[in-house]
Amino acid sequence: MDEQRDSRGARSHDKKHGDPIAFAENLPALVPSDAWIARTREFGIELEAREIELLGKYLAALMDVNTRTNLTAIRDAEQAWDRHIFDALTLVGVLQELPESDGRRKVIDVGSGGGLPGVPLAIVMGDVDFVLLDATKKKTDFIARCAQWLGLENLSVINGRAEGVGQDKAHRGMYDGAMARAVGKVAMIAELTVPMVKVGGLVVLTKGEQAEEELKQAKKALHMLHTHHVGTVETPTGRVVVLEKQRTTPRMYPRRDGEPKRSPLGVSDTGRR
Ligand code: SAH
Repeated sequence: MDEQRDSRGARSHDKKHGDPIAFAENLPALVPSDAWIARTREFGIELEAREIELLGKYLAALMDVNTRTNLTAIRDAEQAWDRHIFDALTLVGVLQELPESDGRRKVIDVGSGGGLPGVPLAIVMGDVDFVLLDATKKKTDFIARCAQWLGLENLSVINGRAEGVGQDKAHRGMYDGAMARAVGKVAMIAELTVPMVKVGGLVVLTKGEQAEEELKQAKKALHMLHTHHVGTVETPTGRVVVLEKQRTTPRMYPRRDGEPKRSPLGVSDTGRR
């Protein structure tokens, strides 16, 4: 596991030709439409000019790098403001409800890809520390560069698999919250996220129409992980499923690499009980 603590500590940028995740330092920020700003306001999110600028710079880098290497399926900036930035910001309300912590609250984004939902949330929630985890090095390198470029001191990056990180003493039971978008169904992603949160901590999943069906399918898994469904919030871009960890996770979870996906807990016949 290659931990790139605060992106300031990351290796210096490799500017040589062909670096797939390189982007120009002077890339101009994309600008959201007035209608987009109005929609976020209606939803209860009041963004400062500085935050809009940082969100626009992040999106500019994501869209630019995405023309050379695949970070996200969305290639249209207009669409990206909704489906990436606004969608990430729909988690703010739930994350504000995280139980009080001794120090700063800590949230891990599991399978963050090009930095979603973690990067936009780190931009607008300066009082929370975000750790963005992904198995693909190219993606975590990209996020680390963005964090450094944008000066986000509350964001750090881990390149690794959630199965290993969830069994690592430095991370197991250490987070006030975990979140994930588009990494897998509830039964699978619960096994990858729940072990990392504290008892009483929340797992916040960005979902769509299929939320209820996946929750039904995950009933046994949630029981095995001592976790319960506290609610689902309807948002303009989908549904946010909120789980709460009730007791310490049994040692055996998460299982070895690939197992949570291959044989989701309580779902497939070969799943361990
Ligand atoms: N959350 C992002 C990316 C979704 S794609 C978004 O919404 O745009 C799913 C990502 O999860 C991929 O980048 C993949 O590398 C990562 N991933 C899948 N399984 C993982 C695991 N077990 N541990 C860490 N990362 C994982």
